[in-house]
Amino acid sequence: MALAPASLEPTDEQKAIIEMVRQFTDEQIIPNAEHYDGADEYPEPIVEQLKELGLFGITIPEEYGGLGLDLTTYVMVVEELSRGWISISGVINTHFIGSYLLLKYGSDEQRQKYLPRMATGEIRAAFSLSEPELGSDVQAIKTSAKKVDGGAYEINGQKMWVTNGLMSDLVFVLVKTDPDAQPRHKGFTCFITEKAPGVSENTGEYAGLTVPPKIKKMGYKGVESTELVYDGYKCPADNVLGGEEAGLNKGFAQMMDALEVGRANVAARGVGLAQRALELALRYSQERRAFGKPSAEHQAIQFKLADMATQLDAARLLTRRAAQMKDAGDRSDMEAGMAKLFASETARYCAEECLRIHGGYGYSKEYEIERIYRDAPLLLIGEGTSEIQKMVIGKKLLQRHKL
Ligand SMILES: Cc1cc2nc3c(=O)[nH]c(=O)nc-3n(C[C@H](O)[C@H](O)[C@H](O)COP(=O)(O)OP(=O)(O)OC[C@H]3O[C@@H](n4cnc5c(N)ncnc54)[C@H](O)[C@@H]3O)c2cc1C
Repeated sequence: MALAPASLEPTDEQKAIIEMVRQFTDEQIIPNAEHYDGADEYPEPIVEQLKELGLFGITIPEEYGGLGLDLTTYVMVVEELSRGWISISGVINTHFIGSYLLLKYGSDEQRQKYLPRMATGEIRAAFSLSEPELGSDVQAIKTSAKKVDGGAYEINGQKMWVTNGLMSDLVFVLVKTDPDAQPRHKGFTCFITEKAPGVSENTGEYAGLTVPPKIKKMGYKGVESTELVYDGYKCPADNVLGGEEAGLNKGFAQMMDALEVGRANVAARGVGLAQRALELALRYSQERRAFGKPSAEHQAIQFKLADMATQLDAARLLTRRAAQMKDAGDRSDMEAGMAKLFASETARYCAEECLRIHGGYGYSKEYEIERIYRDAPLLLIGEGTSEIQKMVIGKKLLQRHKL
């Protein structure tokens, strides 16, 4: 199989952005992550600085006030932020997916209405497919929308695991609009549902949308994951993604496309987390002494470092290749699946090896690896589990190599 070339070498523009984000991560994220993780508190001051750096508008074109950068640059930025703390990248990742959906599928009016304020971070976006009874099996969605008097759509149902579910202003939500459609995915629509940020019981024009208390998690703290309850929520027909005429019952394909870039983005988070685990392992193993010498001088430890570094480089290459292919306009579902699968498993592997290298101290909250070890498993689950990635890769392989 011919593989598209992938390069680790950033352009001069990318180098300047990476340098800026790396400095921000070293100065603002790494020293403060322990506090926000321990308190499970929304990192508001860091989020404000993300706005100032323009990171909410990173892929939004300049005509809407964004930086207009490509997916490849975006994954480099996500890698740097995640090296500090994956929860910070979580704050912008769902926003990025929302802006991708608007740019690719939104109507002109929808782009004009939302993108300028999204570029500055004034309004923020979440996206929602999962429900209490489903995650992998998206076509089993039960939340539904029906057109009512006055032309709006009434949405009813419960969503689950919505990252930024409380603090967002917009939720790109996939619901069933044609219960009789066959196949089922032809009966789903993506609505842009508006809400008040930080408010659990919405009222007035947003009445009917409730955000229950945030879900308690083992890691990925600070950024909230919530349920969303739609109970008679009225969404104007103008807020069908792409407009009612073009967008009704087109939501499944739109969301699956967004998941493709979402997977490159989760892969980048895995690369950043694994990078930090390697850095911590390299430092600790040279400082800690065992049997009369630094533990890094024991071959068994060097083998661990070698395996971590090798897997990390491979994960980074796969991630950049997936992003570069998407930027070139190529279909990259298989490559994004490979990147997500390998990078998330690499993150889990590197977190565990780093913890082992730290010995007992790795189990102590005094050391950063303890948080990283709790954060890593999320990457195995979000945007499709490892099993689901293998299903995507296997299906594509057979399609591309049909006898
Ligand atoms: C912290 C966090 C944040 C999240 N944020 C969001 C968000 O912002 N928006 C959103 O929509 N969702 C979000 N999710 C949900 C996430 O996408 C789902 O959890 C994920 O897709 C898995 O779905 P599930 O949890 O229902 O597991 P299930 O689908 O029930 O799967 C359970 C297990 O069975 C396996 N499995 C399922 N089907 C198959 C099969 N056919 N073959 C083999 N194995 C299979 C899975 O791989 C998994 O191991 C988030 C989840 C978490 C934990």
